Amino acid sequence: MDQQQRSPLLEVKGNVELKIPLVKAPSRLPLPGRRVKRGPDQMEDALEPEKKRTRGLGTTTKIATSHPRAPPLRTVPQAQGQAAAQKVPKKTGPRYSTAPAAVSKSQKPVPPVPAQKPSTSAALPTAGGKKPTKRPAWDLKGQLCDLNAELKRCHEKTQTLDQENQRLRDQLREAQQQAKALGAERRTLEGELAAVRAQAEQGRQELGSLSARVLELEERLGTQEGFVQELQKEQLELQEERRGLAARLQEQERRLQASEAALSGSRAEVASLRQEAAAQALLLAERGERLHGLEMERRRLHNQLQELKGNIRVFCRVRPVLPGEPTPPPGLLLFPSGPSGPSDPPTRLSLSRSDERRGTLSGAPAPTTRHDFSFDRVFLPGSGQDEVFEEIAMLVQSALDGYPVCIFAYGQTGSGKTFTMEGGPGGTPQAEGLIPRAVRHLFSVAQELGGQGWTYSFVASYVEIYNETVRDLLATGARKGQGGDCEIRRAGPGSEELTVTNARYVPVSCEREVEALLHLARQNRAVARTAQNERSSRSHSVFQLQISGEHTGRGLQCGAPLSLVDLAGSERLDPGLALGPGERERLRETQAINSSLSTLGLVIMALSNKESHVPYRNSKLTYLLQNSLGGSAKMLMFVNISPLEENISETLNSLRFASKVNQCVIGTAQANRK
Ligand code: ADP
Ligand code: MG
Repeated sequence: MDQQQRSPLLEVKGNVELKIPLVKAPSRLPLPGRRVKRGPDQMEDALEPEKKRTRGLGTTTKIATSHPRAPPLRTVPQAQGQAAAQKVPKKTGPRYSTAPAAVSKSQKPVPPVPAQKPSTSAALPTAGGKKPTKRPAWDLKGQLCDLNAELKRCHEKTQTLDQENQRLRDQLREAQQQAKALGAERRTLEGELAAVRAQAEQGRQELGSLSARVLELEERLGTQEGFVQELQKEQLELQEERRGLAARLQEQERRLQASEAALSGSRAEVASLRQEAAAQALLLAERGERLHGLEMERRRLHNQLQELKGNIRVFCRVRPVLPGEPTPPPGLLLFPSGPSGPSDPPTRLSLSRSDERRGTLSGAPAPTTRHDFSFDRVFLPGSGQDEVFEEIAMLVQSALDGYPVCIFAYGQTGSGKTFTMEGGPGGTPQAEGLIPRAVRHLFSVAQELGGQGWTYSFVASYVEIYNETVRDLLATGARKGQGGDCEIRRAGPGSEELTVTNARYVPVSCEREVEALLHLARQNRAVARTAQNERSSRSHSVFQLQISGEHTGRGLQCGAPLSLVDLAGSERLDPGLALGPGERERLRETQAINSSLSTLGLVIMALSNKESHVPYRNSKLTYLLQNSLGGSAKMLMFVNISPLEENISETLNSLRFASKVNQCVIGTAQANRK
């Protein structure tokens, strides 16, 4: 609508507005199911349309001149205008716009038109805006008619307005109801809102706790991931290990198969070996049996051999000239070779002695008398201990076979008896005497026989017989060096075995134990020597080893004593010498010695002659040794002689004694007899 079109409208009187078609504003009431927020002003507008309308009648009332739905104002012919005017109220309702708020925000409000004071003379506007034709003053009837028409129109208008009012009241009521409903709905909604808020709060809290939980879970997840990584790494390692193990397993299985194959082969081999072993065991048993038979045969033959050699043998041993001793005249002692020449072991000895008395009487040079002796063996001065022992080793071994063995060393003092029996000074292995050598030999042979089922035990004793009293050389402690309280007794009533009371019988199982005993005996003798002058040379030392053997498998037993006797010096006192009190004592000693030595000779002779009475009891020595002499016993006598010229007389005596003993058992005939 432009200015030119509007201008004629603005010129009309105040009621021009009535012709503005009322456009029904869109209902501001909320449609059902649609929430529309309303401002308080709007609510007010809705509730109090009448009031507004009253206000709108003021000079400042805004006219909605640009309502989008309002049809444009046009100048129409009166007839049309009237018709339109009549139609308008019905169609548009109240004349005044009740919708200042309905003005679109995009539309510019029309500035208020200054109100013009309507002229009293102005006729009612006609439709189309054309001025009504003014009736002449006289035309009262016409005027009345106009007024009536006007009245009628007003009346209609009033009716219309009433209707409109009624309608608006209805609308108001409806709006109130709606407002009420809306209030209720608002409260409900507020309640709902509060509930929603509470829910939201709860949700927020839950969210908080959930996010904390999420954080925790994330943390755990991190840890778990670490674990997982570790586990994966471990798994990889394990897989690697497993591969390695699988390879090893395969290898082991392969080996196992190979081993099993080998095992089955071995089993077969074992089976055949077992058979073989059984056969071998059988053979072994047979052989063992045979071996035993052979061993018994060996013993028998050995014994026979010893008997053939003579159950009483005599060996002569000449000691060397010691440093500082006068060299004997050549030819004093001669050792003629045997029948087979020098290769034969020497058995003969010749002693040449000048008979000074006869030479003196005749005035001629003293003739020399040659004394020939023959023994089982003669050991020259240069013979070593080993050479001597070699000759008696087989004899010593007889003790293990159950034959008593007795070895004597006979000779004057200083002739080498102790050297032969115990050994030389210094204790060097070469100087070892018969006792340690015999003991070592016995231990070693006993061990060998152990392989054939024999077990041996040895008990050693060492006593001294001085002047017919017995003393223990193995005494220790307070009894050391003392003597005389020992007696020779039978081990038990009816027993053949003899024992020395108060003497120590020491079980020995090795050479070193025997060495210790020999050392102790030497100590004991040394103590005695200081007390009584050179007593040792006037006493017999008897070392005895009781041997017991057992073959449990065959129930065999054997036992015999090995006696090694270092006899007292055989020298005699010159009967022509004047005897002092000390010498008288010495004579008694010598007589005792001589008595025991001659008793020994007599015993040997009685035994060799198979006499019914053997005078064992005539001396302590023979009494103690009676089980080692006679019967199946083997006896060996060493006659030790000095090479010195000054000892020639005693040497001759010794050789004569030994020769007598040697003659007791000559050759095999006598041996066979035994
Ligand atoms: P006995 O015991 O007969 O009185 P010994 O055995 O004490 O005589 O010997 C006297 C000395 O002669 C000792 O010094 C001893 O060492 C020495 N003797 C004895 N026989 C031999 C020998 N075959 N070889 C070397 N020295 C010997
Ligand atoms: Mg001696």
